[in-house]
Amino acid sequence: MSDHVNIFGLTVCNESMDDAIQRAVHAARSKLRQIVFFINAHCINIAVSDPAYLQTLLVADQIYADGVGMRFAIALCGERLADNVNGTDLFPRLCETAAREGVGMAMLGAKPGVAGQCARNMQNRLPGLQFPFVHDGYFKPEDEASLINHINESGAGILLVALGVPSQELWIARNAHRIRTPVILAVGGLFDFYSGLRRRAPWLLRQCGLEWSFRLAQEPRRLFRRYILGNPLFLMRTFLLRLSGKEVLAGRVRVRTRS
Ligand code: UDP
Repeated sequence: MSDHVNIFGLTVCNESMDDAIQRAVHAARSKLRQIVFFINAHCINIAVSDPAYLQTLLVADQIYADGVGMRFAIALCGERLADNVNGTDLFPRLCETAAREGVGMAMLGAKPGVAGQCARNMQNRLPGLQFPFVHDGYFKPEDEASLINHINESGAGILLVALGVPSQELWIARNAHRIRTPVILAVGGLFDFYSGLRRRAPWLLRQCGLEWSFRLAQEPRRLFRRYILGNPLFLMRTFLLRLSGKEVLAGRVRVRTRS
């Protein structure tokens, strides 16, 4: 099994959830910059039609393949993923390690009150856990500089950015140079889940790779394009990739290379 997989123009890190957590916490403690993105089929669909977003994804130090779509695409190209390293499953385990190692976490994103509730829920489970900065994701552009100052002053070792795809990756790429928090993760809707605002799909659906169908049932209008149109499109792109042995990405044809 390779420790990296090249697919759709991106280099995906192929390691276990435990290794991903250790890597992030070690970087936080050592003050080493690490930008982490979890890339799913929806991200790939956006990257194919938007070269600027694809360039943004390339700023990541670690990219993990998130979800059944990416697992399938990688398998079709002859590689096997060690684990399903996604932000939502990683978060509680990252919190455990961060609490044990004394690494504070900053949270930016979700509707007002949601990140705070998520932080309180995690602190009830893990009393040593510190969230020195918590803010919602509906701020004005003119407040951004002051928010970043507060993040920097918080002394957090890890910043979780939950603004949704693609805003969170674009926000991180635009602002990383002025953020002093060493480790920055783009984590999607996970504050909604761990605050209790939204229910996650039952375990069995998640095991069958059908978490997306549960999310679609909860928010059909918002997620119709993403899943009903996006999933077949992603599958088509995956089969094209397999058939051609090449990547068609952002209008360019690239020869697929393996590490
Ligand atoms: N969000 C935000 N600011 C915005 C738009 C969205 O903080 O301007 C939050 C939203 O409240 C939700 C998360 O970003 O908590 C996006 O959730 P979604 O389930 O869409 O995540 P994705 O699947 O895109 O990663």
